[in-house]
Amino acid sequence: MKSNIHTDPFSVENLNTLNYPTPFYLFDRNRLRDNLKQFKEYIPNVDVHYAVKANPTKDVIETLNESGAGFEIASTNELNLLMQCGVNAEKILYSAPVKPGKFIHEAYEYGVKKFAFDSKQELEKITQSAPGSSVYLRLSVTEHGSRFSLTDKFGVTLDKVVELMQYAKQLGLDPYGLTFHIGSQATSKESWKYAIRTASKAMNLLEEVGIKIQMLDLGGGFPVQYTETVPTLEEIGIAIDKAIKKYLPYRVTLVAEPGRALVATSAVLVTSIFARIKRRYMWLFVDAGSYNSLFETLESQTSMKFEIYHSLTEYNKSLNRRYTVTGPTCDSLDVLAKDVTLPSELKLGDRLYFKSAGAYSVALANSFNGFEPPAIYFVN
Ligand SMILES: *Cc1c(COP(=O)(O)O)cnc(C)c1O
Repeated sequence: MKSNIHTDPFSVENLNTLNYPTPFYLFDRNRLRDNLKQFKEYIPNVDVHYAVKANPTKDVIETLNESGAGFEIASTNELNLLMQCGVNAEKILYSAPVKPGKFIHEAYEYGVKKFAFDSKQELEKITQSAPGSSVYLRLSVTEHGSRFSLTDKFGVTLDKVVELMQYAKQLGLDPYGLTFHIGSQATSKESWKYAIRTASKAMNLLEEVGIKIQMLDLGGGFPVQYTETVPTLEEIGIAIDKAIKKYLPYRVTLVAEPGRALVATSAVLVTSIFARIKRRYMWLFVDAGSYNSLFETLESQTSMKFEIYHSLTEYNKSLNRRYTVTGPTCDSLDVLAKDVTLPSELKLGDRLYFKSAGAYSVALANSFNGFEPPAIYFVN
């Protein structure tokens, strides 16, 4: 697909010219490259490992790989995808702290050497399936605000750190590092500060028993500006840098695993209105919904708000009105946005564009009720 370098591919003017059947996603490879570049600029001295689960599309992986990113995986299928895209094993971290033993072995066979863990049982599995590997311990940290929490499922408190890392050594594994994840779409930069402080305490405890780690992995959670105001990457970078300087007892290799922050803004979801019905609210039905496109609207019960724009180029702004925008399935939870302000003139066949639709969208899509996930097109 060709595109004019002078136009923004996500502008109304450009999107209106695209005649593909809706719904579809339009991805811009340049945005992926820029997002990676900006991440490295604002969160400096950190090795970037893209969290594949945020968007496992081949073009996304290839573009980020060519631009120098590493990767973070949770399964053999994600590993296979990276293999198909020619990603070297040294660039892969296996950061899911709890894994099927078979997956550990398959990653080990490919040459992956670094595995996260948070229990003795997991260490035993790693010893059996990937002997001699480097392991990094997932810490449980306090989240100071994030849209999708991860505190309960994974991670250990400080009192377990020494015992687990000593056990790793005893099993012939390399007690390589520490990691944490402050939850996805974090809304407070304080989260990183406190998490880094917790990691520093763990480093001190380990140093007392003669274990010096090599890597601190800051995980993901870097937020994207949808319609809510979130700290910028620059602000987060400053907070991280301060915390590192203030708390860490010695230098380590720093790693980050952004998912959302690299892919969200790289795509727009293009939909068409196929019904406009007044009953209690004014409803707009569009041909993509929570199940086949924007799963996080379902997961968050629409408290996660995407920015929506539209195909009208001439309309009366003073006549804007409020709508509930809903997906095509017969399920009542399939609602994309409540109380969103859009032109009153919108009619059947007009399009709604959902901005920043590249993260946890394609990855979570299903064909519930016979509505298939949108096609995917790339520019640049
Ligand atoms: C999901 C996940 C990430 C990415 O999270 P984002 O919020 O998309 O940045 C990074 N690391 C691990 C271990 C994850 O599970």
